[in-house]
Amino acid sequence: MLADALQQLRGSRLQPVINGTGIIIHTNLGRAPLGSVVAEALVRAARNYTSLEYDLVTGERGQRAPYLEENLALLVGSEAATIVNNCAAALVLLIRHFTQTAERNEVIVSRGELVQIGGGFRIPEILEASGARLREIGTTNQTNVSDYAKAINQRTALILKVHRSNFYIEGFTRSAAPEEISAVAREKGIPFVEDLGSGAIFETEAVLGNGQRLDHERRPVEALSQGVDIVCFSGDKLFGGPQAGILAGSFARIRALKRDPLFRALRCDKLVLAALEATVDLYLRNDLREIPVQTMLALTNDALAERIAAIIAGLKNVPVSANSRPGKAQVGGGTLPRSTIDSLTLELHCSEISAAELASRLRQAVPPVIGYISEGCYRLDLHTVFPEQDQLLVAAIKGAIRTATASSPIPC
Ligand SMILES: *Cc1c(COP(=O)(O)O)cnc(C)c1O
Repeated sequence: MLADALQQLRGSRLQPVINGTGIIIHTNLGRAPLGSVVAEALVRAARNYTSLEYDLVTGERGQRAPYLEENLALLVGSEAATIVNNCAAALVLLIRHFTQTAERNEVIVSRGELVQIGGGFRIPEILEASGARLREIGTTNQTNVSDYAKAINQRTALILKVHRSNFYIEGFTRSAAPEEISAVAREKGIPFVEDLGSGAIFETEAVLGNGQRLDHERRPVEALSQGVDIVCFSGDKLFGGPQAGILAGSFARIRALKRDPLFRALRCDKLVLAALEATVDLYLRNDLREIPVQTMLALTNDALAERIAAIIAGLKNVPVSANSRPGKAQVGGGTLPRSTIDSLTLELHCSEISAAELASRLRQAVPPVIGYISEGCYRLDLHTVFPEQDQLLVAAIKGAIRTATASSPIPC
């Protein structure tokens, strides 16, 4: 009992884990891991005083993160950009900012976009909690531009478009084109905002490592060029940076958002700013190899096959049957739900212990190893395991099997 309690306490610490799930942006495992260049920038900012709000030219108080904001705007193709804690915070800021008076607090959203993202983040509830009135239009599968036009009245504060990140609807469907909505919004002087969720920088349908293509994920530049006034998206989904909510749009709009009193409560600390600045620099230099989410997308099965063969060789004298099996990795993080990525998995079978018991033992390894069970077999998808973790994986499997066989006289 005491041992169990201690184990639980130890397990409750935030600690690195080996991700063998094949889900690249795994929300429960902390979404995007950072590469070494970005991690070093973060450590430098952590260990030193920084020029966070200090102007080195004048020696006076300066702006917060002007370099980052400038480069972010450049990267996403907007006039201006800024950052808050996460995309949910960006959305709350936008809604609060545009619905400040009781006479003008209606937010128009298509019924096909009243979505739930992850645990407990529901668009209608966010709107309500932000003091806005939701004005639903259209139906689940069909919303036309005329639905938007008809819904606009004296109380309309905002038109909100929400990306269907984590699901898709097929069949008799139609959504109004952003250009059409934008034309109506402009005519009536209503701001038009889009929550992009993931916000891809590169073309997701470009060829992946295995010659496959992902579905198309909307990019900020696309939305902005279609007449959306402000976009928001996460820093730690496909973007592959630290947790952040990125807002991009015109100078005037972004300046106004930054002057909102709520902005101060949602702003990022120097660690996030340093990590995001380094990530943006990598994109601008086109050095995607330093962004792990991007390198994982570019992995080939040939590279994985070589690594699995070495792992299997490392387990030669261990009483476990280890085999290479085809698998399907995913982008995850509620992004591109239809796209899977061909991958290879290490399938482990030990006749002494069940797949569930093996999974439990590997979760207790140091570092913990997280795999999954498919068709009754325990599997580790190598797509999301970093090559430098392969030997840790071998050691963890040896340890798990040893404890299994030590408690039983019959070998696996
Ligand atoms: C993920 C997501 C969010 C929330 O982003 P966080 O950065 O986790 O706060 C909001 N909107 C959409 C459409 C998303 O996909």
